[in-house]
Formats: sequence, structure tokens, C-alpha cells
Amino acid sequence: MSFKDATAFHIAALPPLAWRPAPFVSTSIVLHALILIGLFAEPQQWRVWLLVFAGNHLFICAAVMLPRNHWIGANITRLPEAAARRGEIALTLDDGPDPAVTPQVLDLLDRHAAKASFFCIGERAQAYPDLVREILRRGHSVENHSLRHDKTFAFRGWQWTRTELENSQQVLAQITGQMPRFFRAPAGFRNPLLDPILALAGLRYAAWTRRGFDSVRGDSASVLRRLRRNWGPGFILLMHDGHPAKTAAGVPVILEALPILLDEIQQRGWRVVSLPMAFEVSGAD
Ligand SMILES: [Zn+2]
Repeated sequence: MSFKDATAFHIAALPPLAWRPAPFVSTSIVLHALILIGLFAEPQQWRVWLLVFAGNHLFICAAVMLPRNHWIGANITRLPEAAARRGEIALTLDDGPDPAVTPQVLDLLDRHAAKASFFCIGERAQAYPDLVREILRRGHSVENHSLRHDKTFAFRGWQWTRTELENSQQVLAQITGQMPRFFRAPAGFRNPLLDPILALAGLRYAAWTRRGFDSVRGDSASVLRRLRRNWGPGFILLMHDGHPAKTAAGVPVILEALPILLDEIQQRGWRVVSLPMAFEVSGAD
């Protein structure tokens, strides 16, 4: 199915969410206005205005590169208190679906009665639509991880980002019949424009509490150590069923680490859930 075919019918978008700029963003806008006024009023002080401008942009760059920051918009990095009290941990799986790995991950999750949120790449979902429907059929949620997983995602403008995000929503909704509720940027890098674009699409931005770097490290002990650091209910864990790193034996590291992780969570009496379960939102309406 090509993207053109996939747009043959249109599923209604989610209602927009209320939006207001994060305090850091409004401060930056005011600073830019002050710099402009300063340049006109006292042009001889141009070095000062340049310094303020550069300082502000240094913080903006840091915000782009720090996936768990809350400066440039709402960012879910933990589950709500109510979910933590219920002993819930959310498992999120990025970059799939993968025809070799995802079915094995689904079987592992079933064996542990665990549910997860799969942040799928739109183009990969188009290539394996039956696999995406199988994710949903087994009680997991399918979320939006952009259409193409473009490495320049965080450096694009308003129209490009909006089109990328909305096309991915449509592709995933046409496969599953449900609009994804959560979005995660490729590599977690996002710019200040993303927050209002997400609000227009009715999407919530979700990062993570801990990630295992399992797309770059093939050592399951190191992946597990990172995921379990000071962990507890309320955590959002990130692993990859798409593009996973391989162990020395050539096994996708998620297939070695995930059963150990799920066993330990079960022993501790915690529950592995998807994001819509923890946030008590339905994907069906
Ligand atoms: Zn990714």
C-alpha cells in the first residue's frame, strides 16, 4: 500500500488540545522583542544585544538536544500519580514494526501478561500493516513516532513538521481504525514549534523516564542496568523493537533483555502497561 493509497479515506483527527507557550518559550519571545527594540534604540550597544541573543539560543539548542526537558513544551517523563499508586510501569517500544523482532516481542509480552505502547514509524507501518493490527489485537497501543523517522526532524519548520506528523497520524489510523494519542520525536530531539503542532493534532508528547540505549548497545547487562536505575512504579521505560542492536551472538538485544526485565517486574509485583492504560484514555473514541 503506497502512502497515496493510504490517504484514499480520511479518519477524523482528534480534537485540538488547549495550548499556551511554556514559560521558557514566552520568555524567549519577549527577549527577542527586547533585543529588536534595543538594536533600534541603542545600536552602539550591539555587542550586548548579540550576547543576549546568543545566550538565549544556546538554551534553545540545549532544549532541542535534551529529550526529557520540559522547557519547550509539555513532556510526559513519568506516569500520573494514580498509575504509580496502582504499581504500574509503562513499557514503550520505538522504531517498529519489524517483521523479525516485533512478533517475538509480542509473544514475550503475552507470556508475562504485559501491555506496551508501540511508537511506530509511519512508513514501516505501511510496509507491515498486518503486524500493526496484530499489536493492537493483542491489547497494546500504537502510537506516532513520525512518518519517516527523519534525522533532521528537530531542525525543520512549521509546515514540514505539521505535514510529517499529520500524515503519520492518518497512516496509522487507517491501518488500526484508531488515532494514536501520543507522539515521540525521532531520537527524542524536538524544537519549540512541535508543542503547538501537537496541540492542534490533539496529541500529547511522551519521552521516557529511563532508556536502555538498546538500539546502539548490544550488551543486555548494560541495557538492563540503565533501565533499572532507581526504578519503581510510575516509570516509563524505552526500548526498541525496530533497529535493535545485536548481542555478540547476533541476537537482537531486546529479545535477551526484555524477558529478564519482565520477570523482575513480575517478581516485584508491579504491572507493565501501555500509556493509554496508565493515563486512562481510550484509543477507540
Ligand atoms: Zn526512534
